[in-house]
Amino acid sequence: MSTPACRACGSARTRTRGEKTGAHLRRVFTFHDCADCGLLFVEPFSGFGVYDDAYYRGEGPDPYVDYETEYRDWRSSDRRHELEDLVGIAAGLLRRENAPGRAGEPLRWLDFGCGAGALLKCLRDTGRVAGRSLELTGHDVGSWADRLRSEDRLKILSLAELASLPGGSFDVISMIEVIEHLPFPQEPVALATRLLRPGGLLLLTTGNLGSPAARRAGLAHHYCAPEIHVSLFNPDSLSRVYTRSGLRPVKVRYRGAIRFKVLKTLRHRPLLRFVASIALRLPPVIAAVDLLYGVSAMPCAVKPRPPA
Ligand SMILES: [Zn+2]
Repeated sequence: MSTPACRACGSARTRTRGEKTGAHLRRVFTFHDCADCGLLFVEPFSGFGVYDDAYYRGEGPDPYVDYETEYRDWRSSDRRHELEDLVGIAAGLLRRENAPGRAGEPLRWLDFGCGAGALLKCLRDTGRVAGRSLELTGHDVGSWADRLRSEDRLKILSLAELASLPGGSFDVISMIEVIEHLPFPQEPVALATRLLRPGGLLLLTTGNLGSPAARRAGLAHHYCAPEIHVSLFNPDSLSRVYTRSGLRPVKVRYRGAIRFKVLKTLRHRPLLRFVASIALRLPPVIAAVDLLYGVSAMPCAVKPRPPA
């Protein structure tokens, strides 16, 4: 039986890696990988119906989701470690990659897949990034996007509205744990590439299937949750998605994001969580977790400036 074409690069050189029964939707899913670009992808795609209100309460395929706490007060959620890390990483990259904007010119930041709005609110509360004031936009679908629009007065645009914006509308686009949920991962990166101004930054995070922990676990790895994670990457396949769109991969080093990833999995185990929260203050512990899960091995990207 022939395998489906790669959903990132279109190559026909794909092979079946194995099958897995969903933990939430009790049916069998098939994982394929691409010999040309390395994407690992899931068939069939379950659609977006799985992202209902129960999902965002952590009662769906991802037990670690906690939108209500993030929405109410990002500072009281474990995600604060990740959010502050992302803001710091963006500031560092902007200083390194960009000439500073003109005085008084705000930094235009789009959070693509803004969820419960925690990053947007963290940015709004932070006020300035790399010395510049902020003009914030979010994008997502569903009831949380409506709530952010109506109750929090945040500017949340639909996909159609984003697609109609002129090129170069943003200085930073974040896509935090978004791309693995999308069946055609090249599309959002292509849109982000068009919407970034030259020198602009794509701050993208997703799990690393090439990490030592993922390699050892194979398809049993918890990140291989076929109802929701349908496009899975390693550093090389993610870099290829960037370069196909004309972006240049850039290296980043995460710390708080790693702390968050560990703490969220211990949400229901308070004693272990307490011990971990102390251990994760030690840089060698963060470095060891980073090595095992390959978090910082996953690049972000910059839109190159045209040659002068
Ligand atoms: Zn491919």
